[in-house]
Amino acid sequence: MPVIDRIYIDGAFVEPHGSELFDLFNPATATVIAQVKLGDEEDARRAIAAAKKAFPASSRTTKQERIDMLRQLHDVVLADAERLAEISIEEYGAPVARAAWTARYAADAFLHAAKTLEDYPLARQIGTAEVVMEPVGVVGLITPWNNNYGFICSKLSMAIAAGCTAVIKPSEMSALQTQALTECLHRAGLPAGVFNIVTGRGDVVGAEFTANPDVAKISFTGSTTVGKSIIRAGAETMKRVTLELGGKSPTLTLDDADLAAAIPHVISAGFANSGQACINGTRVLVPEDRIVEFNTLIKQAVEKIKVGDPRDPSTAIGPLVSRKQFERVERYIATGIAEGAELLVGGEGLPDGVTGGYFVKPTVFTGVTSDMTIAREEIFGPVIAVLTYRTEEEAIEIANDTVYGLQSYVISSNPEHARTVAARIQSGRVVINGAPHEPLAPFGGFKQSGLGREYGVFGLEAYLEPKAILGGQPA
Ligand code: NAD
Repeated sequence: MPVIDRIYIDGAFVEPHGSELFDLFNPATATVIAQVKLGDEEDARRAIAAAKKAFPASSRTTKQERIDMLRQLHDVVLADAERLAEISIEEYGAPVARAAWTARYAADAFLHAAKTLEDYPLARQIGTAEVVMEPVGVVGLITPWNNNYGFICSKLSMAIAAGCTAVIKPSEMSALQTQALTECLHRAGLPAGVFNIVTGRGDVVGAEFTANPDVAKISFTGSTTVGKSIIRAGAETMKRVTLELGGKSPTLTLDDADLAAAIPHVISAGFANSGQACINGTRVLVPEDRIVEFNTLIKQAVEKIKVGDPRDPSTAIGPLVSRKQFERVERYIATGIAEGAELLVGGEGLPDGVTGGYFVKPTVFTGVTSDMTIAREEIFGPVIAVLTYRTEEEAIEIANDTVYGLQSYVISSNPEHARTVAARIQSGRVVINGAPHEPLAPFGGFKQSGLGREYGVFGLEAYLEPKAILGGQPA
C-alpha cells in the first residue's frame, strides 16, 4: 500500500512530525488505494516559520520577478496536466472531461494572476499621498476536496502575485493529488519557503494556521460552518480573511425561455462536478403554467445521463467523494420524499447497472416549496429541486430567499430581460444562458456564501495592504 509520508517545508520534502495514518479511497470502487501520514500542529508551525523567514525577500520582489515565477509555475503544472487529471480520476472520481478541465484551470490560474499583476498599479498617487500596495504577509490557504489542487493553484497564484509567502493546508482526502501537484510546483524552483504544504486535519493544521499570530491572512474554501469558525478563531489576531463557502444557487427559467434549449443549461448548472460544486444551480424556478412541459423535458434528459465509471468518456456523473457524502446525499433524498416533494426522476439507492462505489442517482424533485429542507440546505450531490412561481416578482423573491448568495443562473430568450432580472438577484455572480466562466472577473459570495472575492484585480487586492506615504516626495 503506497504511503505518502512527506510534507513540503522550506523548499524540501520532509517527514512530518505527525504520525496519524489516514486512508485514501478510490470512490468509484470504495477501496483504499493509499494512505497519508498527516502533519500536526508542530508541522504547521514549522511551515509557518519557513514562510515567515522567506517573507522579507518575497515582499521585495519586483513585478517582473513575480510574473516570471507565475509563468514558471504555469509551465510546470501544464507539463504534468495529464498526470494530475489521471490522479484526480483515481482519488476523487472526477469524470474525464471534468478532470481535464481542472488540470487546465490549475495551470491557467498562474497565467491569469500574471496578467492581472501586469496590468495592476502597485503604486499610485492619490492627492498628496503616494499609495503603495504591500503584500499582506504570510497567508494560510485552506482547500476542500472538490477541487483541491485547482484551488491550491488559484489561491497560491494570487499570493505570489502579491509578494506573499504561503502555508497551504489541502484537504486530507486529496493527498495523492496534493503530492503530485507539490512535485510539479517544486520543479518551478521558487525560493525556499515561498510556499509550504502540510496535509493534515482541519481542526489541527487548519486551526493552527488560523490562530497563529505569524499568519496575516487566511484564504479558505469550504463549508459555511468551518468558515464561521475561522472568522471567530482569527479575530484574536485580526486575520484578514477570504472565505469561499457554500451555496444553494437558483436557476431562474423566465417565462420567455425556450425550455428545450434551457434544459442543457439547467442540467449542467445542477450536476456539474457530479453535483459537488459550490456553484451548482440546485433550485430551479419554473413558471407555474409551464411546469408540465418542463417536467417532461427534464425527466427525459436526466434519464439519459450516464452515471458510472469516471474513466468512461461518456460518463457525465461520477461517484461522490466518500461514503460520508454518499450517505449525506441519500439522507437528503429521503428527506425530500418524507417532506412531500414529488420524485420526478432518480431517488435512493445505486444507479441501475452500478454495483458498488459511492454513486448516487441524478435526482430531480418537483413540487418543491421554499420551506422544504431540500430547497434550503446545500446537499452537495446531484439533486435538483424544482419550484414554481406565478409572477416574476415572486420568482425573484424565491431566488433571494436563502442564506446563501454565491452564483445564480437566468435563462431567457431575451438578453435584456435576463439582465433586468440579474440586477435584482443577490449573488456574487449571475450567469445568463449558460455563459462561460470569466477567470478575471470576481468570484465570491453575498451573505453566508462568503467574504471577499477571488480572481482578477479583486482577488489580488485581497492579498495586499494599501499604505499611504505622505510627504518626502521629490520636489
Ligand atoms: P470543510 O469546510 O469541511 O473543509 C474544507 C477545508 O477546511 C478542509 O481542508 C478541512 O480539513 C479544513 N478544515 C476543517 N475544519 C477546519 C478548522 N476548524 N479550521 C481550519 N480548517 C478546517 O468542507 P468540505 O466538506 O471539504 O467541502 C465542501 C464544502 O465546501 C461545501 O459546503 C461547499 O459549498 C464548499 N465549497 C465552496 C466553494 C466556493 O468557492 N465557495 C468551492 C468549493 C467548495
